[in-house]
Amino acid sequence: MKVIMLGAPGAGKGTQAKMIADAYGIPHISTGDIFRANIKNGTELGKKAKTYMDKGELVPDALVVDLIMSRFAEDDCRNGYVLDGFPRTIPQAEALDAALEKNGEHVDVAVDIEVPDENIISRMGGRRACTNCGATYHVKYNPPKVDGICDVCGQKLILRDDDKPETVKNRLNVYHTQTQPLIDYYKKKDILRTVDGTQDMNKVFADIKAILG
Ligand code: ADP
Ligand code: ADP
Ligand code: ZN
Repeated sequence: MKVIMLGAPGAGKGTQAKMIADAYGIPHISTGDIFRANIKNGTELGKKAKTYMDKGELVPDALVVDLIMSRFAEDDCRNGYVLDGFPRTIPQAEALDAALEKNGEHVDVAVDIEVPDENIISRMGGRRACTNCGATYHVKYNPPKVDGICDVCGQKLILRDDDKPETVKNRLNVYHTQTQPLIDYYKKKDILRTVDGTQDMNKVFADIKAILG
């Protein structure tokens, strides 16, 4: 099964993608997590990506597409995957479709998590991330067991630089102009499904499970 998560920054894509990955036994692939790991390890790719990410802008398509194609070649992708944060532009979606078509494959479902902009800013301010394992928390809606410490791996949690309000506003603009057109793209292919992302995260997941079967 190949699933794409769509939605504004902070809509809950990562949270839901992890639950899908666990429930369906497929890998969760987050381009944002891959970039952050590269930044942490000081790679060339990380250095390039950081200049865009810090401003809340998108990393150029060519860099992202190369990165994701090499990830798909890994063994764990044989039975599908859940993509979180890719594609984010029409050219990325077209590159994905072209690559899959070559092997007679296709995306099964694009799940759009709808959350109004008003809710996003407060959600992002409360987001805490583990830079070690990628787990995500929220100080109010999904707190870790011990304040500031990752439940999964015990490392310190951080507020991402790009989750500060000024950058979030820019990321929302970028989302509306560059990523939202993907909703129509997948609607036309008849694989778009929409869920109400303002609900409690377990209810959102129940709705997604009903869609994925
Ligand atoms: P969020 O989970 O809040 O939507 P991500 O972790 O997915 O944020 O992305 C963080 C940043 O990484 C983005 O603002 C962008 O700069 C970069 N990025 C991640 N995925 C992509 C992509 N598919 N195309 C371009 N840039 C990307
Ligand atoms: P995205 O990957 O789309 O940027 P995340 O999954 O990282 O979004 O979620 C953004 C923030 O909102 C996190 O702090 C997360 O814990 C929290 N969150 C996710 N889903 C919900 C929900 N349904 N209700 C309230 N908060 C949520
Ligand atoms: Zn962790």
